[in-house]
Amino acid sequence: MKRSTPIYLDYNATTPVRREVRDAMRPFEEVHFGNPSSMHAFGRETRAAIDGARETLAGILGARAHEIVFTSGGTESDNLAVLGAARARASGGRHLITAATEHHAVLHAFDYLKSHEGFDVTVLPVDESGRVRPGDLFRALQPDTTLVSLMTANNETGALHPVLEIGAALRERGILFHMDAVQSFGKQRIDVRDFSVDLLSISAHKFYGPKGVGALYVRSGLPLTPTVVGGFHENQRRAGTENVAAIVGMAKAAELAPWKQEDQRLFGLTEKLWNGLSARIGGVHRNGHPSERLGNTLNVSFEDCDGENLLINFDLEGIAVSSGSACMVGSVQPSHVLAAMGVPETLARATVRFSLGLATRDTDVATVIDKAPAIVARVREHSGKAWTS
Ligand code: PLP
Repeated sequence: MKRSTPIYLDYNATTPVRREVRDAMRPFEEVHFGNPSSMHAFGRETRAAIDGARETLAGILGARAHEIVFTSGGTESDNLAVLGAARARASGGRHLITAATEHHAVLHAFDYLKSHEGFDVTVLPVDESGRVRPGDLFRALQPDTTLVSLMTANNETGALHPVLEIGAALRERGILFHMDAVQSFGKQRIDVRDFSVDLLSISAHKFYGPKGVGALYVRSGLPLTPTVVGGFHENQRRAGTENVAAIVGMAKAAELAPWKQEDQRLFGLTEKLWNGLSARIGGVHRNGHPSERLGNTLNVSFEDCDGENLLINFDLEGIAVSSGSACMVGSVQPSHVLAAMGVPETLARATVRFSLGLATRDTDVATVIDKAPAIVARVREHSGKAWTS
């Protein structure tokens, strides 16, 4: 019996590398292998490729080339932004602010600063749709606040923080603003000049580039204490021989990023998916903001289900989804994002994240809507709580 091709709906976990990106990378894996720090022709060749990639990325972000630092991905960019900026500014103040629904790459960096270095950290609550209320942030500001870190879009729910308004207010007060744009870069256009942002993280594997490479935008002149020390690479902000092929691939992926038009197409598809699921299955709840969100992300809780069981049963039917953040795989903890939004623990444990992408078609969504009622019924039966609707 021929099995149909599995449907991949986990684009927020990672994306496939585009063919054009692979083609751009290949010469730097096979032919141009010189160390970009070498003075000879082999090194000059790869140095030129890195410089070109830096120009390209900077252009897309509305930044200048020297404001881009290449890293090993979103986690390192977030760590460098939070640890690096807090430490460099410590003599001016030790109060820092973030939000409860941030990625662990940010939250754990703040935990570290608090528990090991005595910083004072405020973790803001979010509203029921997962967004920070600007009023809460403004009330939390202190005379010694030096840094605020917020994500542009949440990886589990797609909810967008009101970063425009927040960035402008922080700039007026001279407080640094870091945006974790790992989920939104490539899906929504980001020009650093529009956001009053000082530091901004991106990661190539979220926008059809290779894994293990990312970048941090660092506003010109901003002091940053490096987190990786060694040689004088990246203007002394991040030591280590650059991954040339991956950097070239990331720049190509950014050039090809689908941006707004695709976000709108996927917004339509996630609406269709939600309408289909909620019409056919009882006891379903949507988590996140219905409109202030990434178009590709739909987070749904199914009453009386076990999340892992749901995942396995979707997988058995050839549908790849996630229970929230991929970094939580193997952990039985319910999502910290849903907990912060006030979703009860039993529902949080019964949640599926559908994240759509470039290859997702109408027919894929129709297949999921078709198959989901039986999948959910099976999982509910297994939990001893059959539904009749
Ligand atoms: N920040 C956000 C919002 C993310 O979604 C992720 C990954 O899922 C990261 C940071 C970490 O990025 P990376 O996987 O490149 O380390």
